[in-house]
Amino acid sequence: MAEETFDSMEENTTETFEVHYACLRCGTIVSNTELSRLPEIKCICGFRVFTKVRPPVVKTVKAI
Ligand SMILES: [Zn+2]
Repeated sequence: MAEETFDSMEENTTETFEVHYACLRCGTIVSNTELSRLPEIKCICGFRVFTKVRPPVVKTVKAI
């Protein structure tokens, strides 16, 4: 009876990185999930050039 059962208490390591893109023309921000749903990568204004937007990372740091 050397069998050990490991209850995997690991958190889901599949991090879903939501990348946001901003349209170069009108500045509309779309997420990559939204874009992947579209038949083609295109802004609502019709422009196709996007820049990657890095959302501010919110971190709670404990003051020592
Ligand atoms: Zn646009």
